Amino acid sequence: MPPAGLPGIGENAGMLMQRTVKTATRTVGVGVHGGHRVELTLRPAPADTGIVFRRIDLDPPVDIPVRADTVCDTRMASTISPGGDPALPKVQTIEHLMSACAGLGIDNLVVDIDSEEVPILDGSSASWVYLLKSAGIEVQGAPRRFIRVRKPVEVREGEGATLKWARLEPYAGYRLAFEIEFNHPAIDATGRRVEFDFGSGRYERDIARARTFGFTREVEAMRAAGLGLGGNMDNVIVIDDYRVLNADGLRYDDEFVKHKILDAIGDLHIAGRPLLGAYSAYKSGHALNNRLLRLLLADAGAYDIVSYAPRDNAAPAGFAAAEAAPAW
Ligand SMILES: [Zn+2]
Repeated sequence: MPPAGLPGIGENAGMLMQRTVKTATRTVGVGVHGGHRVELTLRPAPADTGIVFRRIDLDPPVDIPVRADTVCDTRMASTISPGGDPALPKVQTIEHLMSACAGLGIDNLVVDIDSEEVPILDGSSASWVYLLKSAGIEVQGAPRRFIRVRKPVEVREGEGATLKWARLEPYAGYRLAFEIEFNHPAIDATGRRVEFDFGSGRYERDIARARTFGFTREVEAMRAAGLGLGGNMDNVIVIDDYRVLNADGLRYDDEFVKHKILDAIGDLHIAGRPLLGAYSAYKSGHALNNRLLRLLLADAGAYDIVSYAPRDNAAPAGFAAAEAAPAW
C-alpha cells in the first residue's frame, strides 16, 4: 500500500516508473585521477538491472554493479569493484555520472568503459546530463523501488576542527543540506551552506553545473599518490592560497558547496535505488557518504522499499499525473 503524502518532485515529476536511456551514446575523455584517455558508452538496460559498469578492455569483460557494498575506495573519488574487493578490476570516479543519473531519475544502464576511470569531462555533471538527455529517457514498465528512510542514521568522525558528519532522516520526498568549512579566503567568500530539495529545485539548473575543485598546495601530494593526474583548469576549479585561478571564475556564487551536494547525490545513488529522505552533512565526503549508506542499509528497521502505481490515487498530484508526459 503506497504511503500518502509524497510530494510532487518538481522537474522530476512523473518519476514513479523506472527509467533507462532510449539509445546508446558514447563519449571520450580523460580520467581526472589516472589521467588516461577513456571511452565510455551508456547503453539501455532492462528494468531492475540497476547501473552496471562493464570493463570491456578486459577479456572476458568484467561487470561491476553499482551498489553500496561494491564501493572499494573512497579517497578523492568513489571507486567500485566486484564485491568491493580492491584486488579485482575497478571503475574509479563514478560519482558525477551517478549524480546525473539521480538527477534525471535513471535507474538502469549498462556503462561500457575501456579503462578504470570514468572521464571527468567538464568536472561537473552537466556533461552527463547532456549526454543522457541526448540519448533520450525511456520510461519502463516497472515501478521504481524507492529506499525510504524510516529512522535517523548518522555517521560522525573527528571532533572540534576535524569534526565531520552526515545524516539521513525520514522526509516525504528527497532533500539535501550541506555545509562546508575550509578556512580558505576564496571559499569563505562564497556560500558555505546550501539546501536542495528535489520537490522544488531543478537539478539541472541548480546543481549539475557545479565543478569539482582542488588546491594548488595539494597538487604535489596528490600526484605522488597517483591522483589528479588528468586535472586541469578545463575540468577543475583550481584554487591557490588566496583565490580561484580559472580565468572565467565561478559558475555559481556557491559553486564549491553545490559541488559537494552534487557529489553527495551521486554517492547516495550508489545505493542502486532512489532515496526518499532528508540528507544533511557537515564537511562530509565520499568516505563518510558511503559509510552512511552502508549504515542505513545494514539496519532493516532503518528503511523500507516502496513503490507507487502510476495512477494510484494515493500518489500525490503532480507526481502520478505527470507520468504520461515526458519528463523534459
Ligand atoms: Zn565531485
